[in-house]
Parts: sequence; structure tokens; C-alpha cells
Amino acid sequence: MNTRVIGQFDVEAVRAAFPILRQEVNGHPLVYFDNAASMQKPEAVIEAVAGYYRRDHSNVHRGAHALANRATEALEGARERVAAFLGGVAREEVLWTRGTTESINLVANSWGRANLRPGDEIVLTAMEHHANIVPWQMVAEATGARILVLPVTEAGTLDLDALPALLGERTRLVAVAQVSNALGTVNPVADIIRLAHAAGALVLVDGAQAVNHFAVDVRALDADFYAFSGHKLFGPTGIGVLYGRRALLDAMPPWQGGGEMIERVSFAGTTYAEVPWRFEAGTPHIAGAIGLGAAIEWLQEQDREAAAAHERALLERLDAGLETIAGVRRIGTDPARAGIASFVVESGHPTDVGLLLDQQGVAVRAGHHCAMPLMERFGVPGTVRASLALYNTAAEVERFLQALDKAMGFLR
Ligand code: PLP
Repeated sequence: MNTRVIGQFDVEAVRAAFPILRQEVNGHPLVYFDNAASMQKPEAVIEAVAGYYRRDHSNVHRGAHALANRATEALEGARERVAAFLGGVAREEVLWTRGTTESINLVANSWGRANLRPGDEIVLTAMEHHANIVPWQMVAEATGARILVLPVTEAGTLDLDALPALLGERTRLVAVAQVSNALGTVNPVADIIRLAHAAGALVLVDGAQAVNHFAVDVRALDADFYAFSGHKLFGPTGIGVLYGRRALLDAMPPWQGGGEMIERVSFAGTTYAEVPWRFEAGTPHIAGAIGLGAAIEWLQEQDREAAAAHERALLERLDAGLETIAGVRRIGTDPARAGIASFVVESGHPTDVGLLLDQQGVAVRAGHHCAMPLMERFGVPGTVRASLALYNTAAEVERFLQALDKAMGFLR
């Protein structure tokens, strides 16, 4: 394929690490532009998972044998890698979960149920993923708390002017995505955290779409909770992370009960383990954590600034190309977005566009992107979303634009 290097970034070398990209779909070389839904995995991650199962697998903790010790060391080593990746937090502040969704549910059920009282307020934004809406609705219903929503502007950015009026003495928590999964908008979470803290509220940052695009330092951000998913960071599915500030985690009750999370169990009563294990009931996804550790190691070997510049150049070309195709309307037009272009077409449903692109080997996502309130805000049933990763190429952007142009020919 006719690919090229933008700046110092050798995209061909990066691509070579991803075996799945070397295939044809419907008779065309695959163009994978569905990265916001899930990223592909480099060989290093596939090997780390396979190698663990080939050589080291056993259940973890309390093991009296070599394999159990190896598995435990690998699991806890991966935790340390995540702690460093998040800017050098303590390993006890890193909890394994199944993904962003479970991380947010953990905070809602543990911190939320213990701390929210009738009339307390939770501030969300109109661009949140359902994973950062529904758990709060459930806990609000259970506790009598109220949900307030920060609006989104026509450009698909947060209306920050409206934030001070939403923050008051009843605000307990602000939960906000760092990058919108539907539009790619990068939200100024550091500013939001500053304002929220000044009002005495905690902040949970949904980093699912952020960690793969740029380095994140949760301490510098001063986030209280930070959530992300392994599979959106070149790692396995079924593994995720919740960072929580140590003092908060220490004060939070367990959410799920079972093995691994206890100190001592008797029918007279149970005492719980220290953090992080207090929040990790049951056998963890050991291979998933190891795979995520390998994904982070792989990512850290890349020139992340060059990768970001590469993605930015691709997105600029994508935006400019979309502007030239008649009948296409972009949704979310902030130029500083991260890796995502969302649009609707006048003459067809997003799903029709998705299917016509798939016939040409181009994978995108079409629908509401688990952000129905945002779709409602823009008065559309859904959008077509092309989302990029550092392994995508300029040639693929051209292929996508040609395929879309052709699809529009069928739809007009
Ligand atoms: N939050 C955001 C911003 C997302 O993009 C996603 C996934 O699309 C989620 C939360 C949920 O992630 P997961 O399904 O991995 O739990």
C-alpha cells in the first residue's frame, strides 16, 4: 500500500507490529478506522498473553509453588507498570477492573452509596458515554442524589461558562470524559478539576479515549479517580483500571465480596484486605493484566509526540476531505480533537454508510456510540465515526475518503 512517513514517525514500522492489519476484507485491503471502539493488538501483547499461558499460568497470591509465584509477580508487575504510566502514582492506587464501565460502577457503588445523601448533586456532561451516566443514575436513584448536566456547544465542546452555576455546596462529584468517544473533543479536565475542587467536589475522569492518544499524569491533573480500558490501549479485552487517590480508597467500603478481598472471614464477621485487593474480589484477569502491561510497555517504546503529530496530520486531512464531499455534515468540529471524525449524511442512515464502507474494506462505527444524550443534543439518531490510531496511514485516509465518495453516489 502507498503509505508514507509523516515527520519523524515511521508508520510502516509501527504497522508491522500489528498482524491483524495485514488482511483483505471484502476483496480490499482492510482500513481499520474503528479504533475508538477497540484498538488492535501488537505482536508484543499477543505474545505476552500467549507466553503467560504457555509458561507461567496459575492462580495468584498465596501460592506455595513456582508457577503461582511467577503469575503473582507478573500480575503485580503489570500493576506497577500502570502506576508508572499514569504519572507515577502508588501501586496501591491502581485497581484492576473489567474495564472503564466497571471502574465507574465501582466508584458509584462504593464511594457513591457511602457518601451521597438526598439532595446531593453529581455533575455530568452532555457528551458522556453511557458508562459515565447510567451508574450515576442508578446510585442517584438509590441515594436521593440529583444529576446536573453541563451542556455541549454547537462545535461539540463543553460549555464551560455554564459550569460555575452548576457547582455549589451540594456538589459531591463531577464525572467527565477527558476525550469524547463520539466526537473526539478533548476536554480541559485540569480546569474542570480545579473548579470542582474549589467547590469541594471530587472528580472522576473517564480516560477511556485519552490514554491511547497522549500521555496522562493523573497527579498533575489532580484527578480523584481515573478510569480506562485495556482494549482501547492496544491491550486485551476484559481488563481495565481504576486509579483512586489513596486516602479516598482507604475510606471506601468494598463493593463486591468474595475471595482475594478479605483479611479474615468468620461467621461472626469479616474483615477486609488493604487496598487495592479490597476491591478485587475473585480471581483477577491475570492474562489480561499482563497483556495490558505489555501494551503499555510497547506504547512507551514509541515516540508518542511524533505519533500524536502523525494522528493530528491524518485527522486534519480527514476533516478537510469530509468538508469537500457533498451531503456530508460533520458533528464535532473543534480543530483540537483527538483521533475521531464524526459525521452524518443527508441522504442516508449512518448504518447504510457503514455497510457501504465495509463492502469496500473500510471499518467504521455507525450509531449512537453509547452517547444517546449527545445524539439528542445534535438532533441526529447517530453518526458515522471514523476513529484513528497511530498505525493508520495517509493512504488509508485517502482510501476512506474515496470509499465514502463512492458510498454517497449510491445514497444520493
Ligand atoms: N467511556 C468512554 C469514553 C468510552 O469510549 C467507552 C467505550 O467506548 C467506555 C467508557 C466504556 O468502556 P468499556 O466498554 O471498555 O468498559
